[in-house]
Amino acid sequence: MVLSVPARARTRLQPLLRDADEIAHMRAAGRVTARVHEAMRRHIRPGISTAELNAIAEDVIRSAGAVPTFLGYHGFPACICTSINDEIVHGIPNPGVILQEGDIISIDVGATLDGWVGDAAWTYAVGQIPASTQRLLEVTEAALWAGIEMARAGNRLGDISAAVQQTVEANGFSVIREFTGHGVGREMHEPPEVLNYGQPGTGLRLRPGMTLALEPMVSAGHWLTDTDADGWTVRTMDGSLSAHFEHTIAITTEAPLILTSP
Ligand code: MG
Repeated sequence: MVLSVPARARTRLQPLLRDADEIAHMRAAGRVTARVHEAMRRHIRPGISTAELNAIAEDVIRSAGAVPTFLGYHGFPACICTSINDEIVHGIPNPGVILQEGDIISIDVGATLDGWVGDAAWTYAVGQIPASTQRLLEVTEAALWAGIEMARAGNRLGDISAAVQQTVEANGFSVIREFTGHGVGREMHEPPEVLNYGQPGTGLRLRPGMTLALEPMVSAGHWLTDTDADGWTVRTMDGSLSAHFEHTIAITTEAPLILTSP
C-alpha cells in the first residue's frame, strides 16, 4: 500500500535553500564551533572533568559573541554534550565525571551567531587508547568523510546514508539507527533527517543551498540504545564503545563546503 503525504505537509518538509550570504553567516557560526573543538583538543586529558570542559566551551562561544545553542534546548542543561565510552550522545557535563586514561569522549557543540547555527561533534582519545578503540574512531571519522563526499547537487540523501553505512559495516561496526543527521540553519534541527543507513539513489534530491549536519554515530557492537534515568544520556545497550563525528556542510554547485572546519 502506498501512503501519500498531503502536498502541504510535503512542502513543509522541504529543506530551505540558503543563498551565499546566508551560508557566509553559517560559516561564521561554524567557525565558532571549530574554535570550541580546538580548545577541547588542547584540554582533554586524564583528570579533567566534563564540567570543566563545558565551562571552557561556554567561554569560547560567548567570547566570540555567539550563544550556546544546546543550553536550554528542550531543557538540556549545558553548552556541550560529553559522551564517554559506551555513551553515544547527549551526555551531560558533570563536575564528578573525571576523564580517565584510555577513555574516549565525544564532544558535540552548537553555536548560534547572528541567528545562524553551526553544529559539530568529534570523538577524542583521553591519553593512550587501545588500537581497537583507535580503529573505531578512524572508521567513524572515515564514514563522515564518505558521507560528505556524496553531499553533492544531483545526488540523493540515500547516497549519503549508504556511503556512511557501507564504510561502517565494511569495518565490522554498526550504525546507530535511532539518531540521525539533520538540516540546520536558523534552527538546529530542520528538515530533512539525514539517516546514517540507507539505499543509494533513494530519497530527496540534493540541491545547492541545502545546509546539513552529517553525523554518523557508530557502535563497536550492536546498534540498539538505552537512555539513562537522567532522560538524556544515550548509551549502547550492550555496553560497546561508541563514536560520533559531525560537520555542518553546505551543498554547492561544486564540492561540499565544510562550514564547521577551522
Ligand atoms: Mg547535530
